[in-house]
Amino acid sequence: MHVLITGGSRGIGAAIARLAGARGWSVSVNYVSDASAAGETVAAVKAAGGNALAIKGDASVEADVQAMWDAAEAAFGPITGFVNNAGVVAPASKVADMSLERMERLFRINITGAFLGAREAARRMSRASGGQGGSIVNMSSIAAKLGAPGEYVDYAATKGAMDAMTIGLAKELAAEGVRVNGIRPGLILTDIHASGGEPGRAKRLGVTTPMGRPGGATEVAEAAIWLLSDAASYVTGTTMEVSGGR
Ligand code: NAP
Repeated sequence: MHVLITGGSRGIGAAIARLAGARGWSVSVNYVSDASAAGETVAAVKAAGGNALAIKGDASVEADVQAMWDAAEAAFGPITGFVNNAGVVAPASKVADMSLERMERLFRINITGAFLGAREAARRMSRASGGQGGSIVNMSSIAAKLGAPGEYVDYAATKGAMDAMTIGLAKELAAEGVRVNGIRPGLILTDIHASGGEPGRAKRLGVTTPMGRPGGATEVAEAAIWLLSDAASYVTGTTMEVSGGR
């Protein structure tokens, strides 16, 4: 199996890469700026028993998306698993106070970027277009159902858009050998909370969840690996919650 993970260098994407490596899979690790983190993840995948390559590129830029698929396929052959994982948040804000610039950045990376990745996957993986088939996993968020009031309704809405895409694309590709599913993580211990201005957010709010704690990136990665694998061969069009009951 050859898996391409956008934003695979840190956080949830890196955890998926490491578990894929432990299965002996080839992993193309996309990142946008932090080459050193990408290098560490590539080394960890190799140490776990897989093949890996770091590929720099912005998942929301059309030419970069095409180039990252080309580079990945040149290294390890056809991609049979795609994790549409790159995503960003912005500092907590009410909708009334959101700038156009902030909204456009969120929508560009989290929606347009996700669609560019999904389009490339549809073009290259579907049997109708000569591909080998495979599995797409869209990294959504439990925010799509909770709405994230007072924090980032714009971010929550991008994930709602992704959930709709999962349903529609799954139906488009079901007969072409490609399964499409999503995951809605809850509060997961990664750097994303620091990028939104509150490094301790997952710990602070994790205690308020039914399980009373935040989740780890590997706990999300386990679900992604299952959806990517043949063990989920009759599963498509669904989005699984990995949120400790939140
Ligand atoms: P993270 O720790 O902030 O890592 C983000 C990763 O995405 C990094 O590898 C980063 O690369 C990459 N990235 C960012 N913008 C990119 C772009 N334009 N093109 C390519 N790569 C890009 O994030 P995370 O917490 O693991 O989140 C991963 C996904 O899970 C996101 O879609 C997020 O919305 C979702 N999620 C996270 C949580 C949570 O609590 N952590 C909860 C629900 C959903 P660099 O290292 O080069 O910057």
